[in-house]
Amino acid sequence: MSTPANPPGQVREITAVSNPLIKELRALALKKYRDEHRRFLAEGLKLVTDALDGGWPVHALLYARAAAGQPHLMAVAARARARGATIIEASDKVMAAITRRDNPQTAVGAFGQRWLPAADIRPGRDCLWIGLDRIRDPGNLGTIIRTADAVGASGVILIGETTDPFSLEAVRATMGSIFAVPVARMSAPEFRDWRARWPGMVVGTHLGAALDYRGLDYAGRPVLLLMGNEQRGLPEELAAICDHLCLIPMAGKADSLNLAVATAVMAFEIRRHALSMPAVGQAVS
Ligand code: SAM
Repeated sequence: MSTPANPPGQVREITAVSNPLIKELRALALKKYRDEHRRFLAEGLKLVTDALDGGWPVHALLYARAAAGQPHLMAVAARARARGATIIEASDKVMAAITRRDNPQTAVGAFGQRWLPAADIRPGRDCLWIGLDRIRDPGNLGTIIRTADAVGASGVILIGETTDPFSLEAVRATMGSIFAVPVARMSAPEFRDWRARWPGMVVGTHLGAALDYRGLDYAGRPVLLLMGNEQRGLPEELAAICDHLCLIPMAGKADSLNLAVATAVMAFEIRRHALSMPAVGQAVS
């Protein structure tokens, strides 16, 4: 993406959406382009700062012309510039075109993607990994990555054809946790092979299960939590490789929970055991 006409480290002023560099950045809205260049966009000063703090490779930083001179924004731009990023002072029109929003944030960064290789997944005692089968909704995926961060999970594993964690929508929903939570991906057969070497407990969630999720002891071993697809749930092949299948009992007429909500309920229960935290409603001494 960086050409001699577009040297890194320079501040450029761009007001035209038709500018070739802006076209390249806009193309990051397309998964095909993101995959090809292994880059993605993150909007907002908080996310850009999180990415820089986490040492993520930064290729370009755009900031709104109207916000030029704001001390925090300029300091962030200087950090990105020191890392070799192209710095662009952009018109509101350009910012809106890149973020596809009417009220764009004051800063947008283009970063290099990071995926955790399966071989680097280390099953430590009391760790929690969250496996997501064919997750489709970018908002759900972003929310789950954010939840994984909040609960202290070790990472997220995407199984099969899933939505892209580096889409603008998913990154937005992570609220910056994309820069803190390792994400790995595997095909379903790769995942089944990998699972055969997993030394801990594998807990699947299934609407047909009879076991209450509060009836398991998750402490003292690595836990792999498996969550099913939004429409189709957990398929037979994955249900078959779980040590336990469990249910979050529901009252009322709802036939299931939203995937991200069910993941949060499970993850906090599992971590409660690992950290020996009291259950909700239990007195804290
Ligand atoms: N129609 C799908 C089915 O029959 O499984 C509904 C899938 S649900 C929206 C998505 C995923 O969230 C499920 O595969 C399961 O992993 C989890 N889930 C949702 N509600 C649950 C519950 N009450 N107990 C256990 N898991 C649940």
